[in-house]
Amino acid sequence: MKAKDIFIKNKDFSMEAADSLFAMALKASENSYAPYSNFHVGAALLTAEGEVFTGVNVENASYGATVCAERTAVFSAVAAGKRKFVAIAVASPDGKAYPCGMCRQVLSEFGKDIKIIVGLDAESIEITDVAEMLPKGFEL
Ligand SMILES: [Zn+2]
Repeated sequence: MKAKDIFIKNKDFSMEAADSLFAMALKASENSYAPYSNFHVGAALLTAEGEVFTGVNVENASYGATVCAERTAVFSAVAAGKRKFVAIAVASPDGKAYPCGMCRQVLSEFGKDIKIIVGLDAESIEITDVAEMLPKGFEL
């Protein structure tokens, strides 16, 4: 069952949805472009409408031009007209991948209550949220 179906069925966020999103993020990481770090990351972002946008890290020879999986997912969703997000899962076959500071800041633009799902694998999922991961973030 897709996260979308679970979300719509339960009208709330559930552990099943977290598991499903995490699996989607891990699957997405297969498309990661990480020839420099060899740390492949995938993200799966669940919108309030129940859609899921995935993203991967895309590295660059100039390093600074690299974009993380979380921001790739957020920017894809925003480009498609979505701005309300319920949760984002971040997964890597290469280790536990907490969002970096820049991605936490980007997520906080769209909600402090967005759930963040991370883990080493499907058996060790941790659920937190933007407020917890970015206390006192920048705001206008
Ligand atoms: Zn990041």
